[in-house]
Amino acid sequence: MALREIIWGGITAVAVVLGPAPFWAAADTQSTAGVGALPPAAVMEQAAQRAMTPAQALQRLKEGNARFASGKLVERDWIGAVKKTASGQYPFATILGCIDSRVPPEIVFDQGIGDIFSVRIAGNFVDPEILGSLEFASKVAGSKLIVILGHSACGAIKGACDGVELGNLTTTLSHLRPAVEAVQDVPGPRNGKNAAFVDAVTHMNVRLTMESLRKQSPILDEMITKHEVGLVGGVYDVTTGVVTWLE
Ligand SMILES: [Zn+2]
Repeated sequence: MALREIIWGGITAVAVVLGPAPFWAAADTQSTAGVGALPPAAVMEQAAQRAMTPAQALQRLKEGNARFASGKLVERDWIGAVKKTASGQYPFATILGCIDSRVPPEIVFDQGIGDIFSVRIAGNFVDPEILGSLEFASKVAGSKLIVILGHSACGAIKGACDGVELGNLTTTLSHLRPAVEAVQDVPGPRNGKNAAFVDAVTHMNVRLTMESLRKQSPILDEMITKHEVGLVGGVYDVTTGVVTWLE
């Protein structure tokens, strides 16, 4: 059975397997609000998610980060959103970010309950398990945008630059080595103390992760090619709260 059939044709069969209320279960809510009229604090509903384009999803994140960086977060009815999303979720974007405690995606993009899928791993790279989550978010649950989000002063990137080895972290950091090796044009030492080198590796890692995502996930690559889902990279600055988007 194809995934699309799972969404539209086989949702009942999936629901039977997982129980009466699988967490992506289609809610019976109907919304007439177009995305252009969607207030920043609106709880995402199916109609709004379906109507949203990848570009509109990116714009919504950009506006959220601008609110966050200027200290003007929207007021939210958090527990109200819990109740509204209890029967189904329709997130508009998926953010693959680092585990860094200073970069919580929902907060730095000023988003609420049910707005975004948040996938986090030290160094924000993809592997088959991470890609499975991203494929679910886009192909099954209808998210319209994938953001690969690096950040400044990333300990994982610094660790990779320094060749740190420690338990399972060694394997984690091995995923960042291609970015370290790909940066060849930064003067100075090739280690975690060279801020310019670390910054270049951080950006390179975002770009290589975007490439790896498309190479390793035919499902996502096809969706991106068909403009069903967008793929963008960004780097969050831990000193300003601002996300700079990669061209
Ligand atoms: Zn990090």
